[in-house]
Amino acid sequence: MLVLVINSGSSSLKYQVRETDSQDLLAKGIIDRIGEVVPDHAAALEELSGRLREELDGRTIDAVGHRVVHGGERFSEPVLINNEIVRSIERLSPLAPLHNPASAMGIRAVHAKWPKIPQVAVFDTAFHRTLPEHAWRYALPDSLYRRHGIRRYGFHGTSYAYVAPVAARFLGIDPEEFNAVIAHLGNGASVAAIQGGKSIDTSMGFTPLEGLVMGTRSGDVDPSILIFLARQGYDADTLDDLLNRESGLRALAGESDMRAIEEAAVNGSEQARLALAVAAYRLAKYIGAYHVAVGGAQAVVFTAGIGENSWEFRRQVVDQLGPLGIRLDADANAVRGKQVRRISSADSAIDVLVAPTDEEEAIAEATAAVVARAADSAASF
Ligand code: AMP
Repeated sequence: MLVLVINSGSSSLKYQVRETDSQDLLAKGIIDRIGEVVPDHAAALEELSGRLREELDGRTIDAVGHRVVHGGERFSEPVLINNEIVRSIERLSPLAPLHNPASAMGIRAVHAKWPKIPQVAVFDTAFHRTLPEHAWRYALPDSLYRRHGIRRYGFHGTSYAYVAPVAARFLGIDPEEFNAVIAHLGNGASVAAIQGGKSIDTSMGFTPLEGLVMGTRSGDVDPSILIFLARQGYDADTLDDLLNRESGLRALAGESDMRAIEEAAVNGSEQARLALAVAAYRLAKYIGAYHVAVGGAQAVVFTAGIGENSWEFRRQVVDQLGPLGIRLDADANAVRGKQVRRISSADSAIDVLVAPTDEEEAIAEATAAVVARAADSAASF
């Protein structure tokens, strides 16, 4: 099946075309400056359609899969999109004000351009719908949950759903019996506790701000800091900017990109070294906690840009896991590659793996599966 994978932002539309049987990538690109150079998402779709005509040599798209950030409490798996589903994605906009409206605009633009092509929504939150209540509840008045939906949702679910079975199979473990701690470390970063192949806890919460130290996001802070700053006159927009765009590695090292921070640390920057130490320590604490949460992990898995590529950051994290009997194999950790691989030593109590993620591939596969299922059920009537 030829699947167009779309990740719509408010001012950009990223796309890939994947052939699901061969896993080939046939086209990839971004249309940006929507709202400026490109008037709106409908115009972006026109531009995309022109590009695909050239790049696909006359082959046509069978289905479109959309990355949708927030599926709230309703969506626990990918769904075939109809009008009611788009409205539901829009209704969840207060929980993801930058992302969900853009996804809905992308979906409507595709429908207007190619009304017959089936579309599927794949939600970042869906994989975490299995969190037990003791993990998703904040210790806040129930009215906040009932009125505003304030609870832990978790994100990066598409990546975890892809990586967990890959890692399990690599170790010869049935994915449904797999207990692991998986760290998705990109510009946004989170960690998930996997028990029996399902997510039972994750570090991102109501929004993708909680948890680990990220490129520009603070992760965990004492909420009283915000109350203190509000009393100093900081308004909501300023606090939003502060925590989401001016914090994390950027605040500590003056840079948000891990490659630049590592280079600065090698060149003697104390700030950069501190940034790495704060981020690595935070992740090591979460790994210890989630090892307990899953009742003993069989593996610790690193994925995404930093997790897959930064051997130095992995070393700093794994070196703190000695009390769990975890030992790194320094040579294996230094090897670069696109394959899933073990980086722990033979005497490590728990395997440590690097497992590349591929969210677009995961969305393409999920889309093809939903469309095939829908066609099957249509045929059985
Ligand atoms: P992602 O959001 O998954 O694309 O990850 C982006 C992050 O991965 C950025 O902080 C990059 O600096 C980091 N990254 C990518 N390649 C490398 C590398 N070779 N070494 C260290 N960090 C890397």
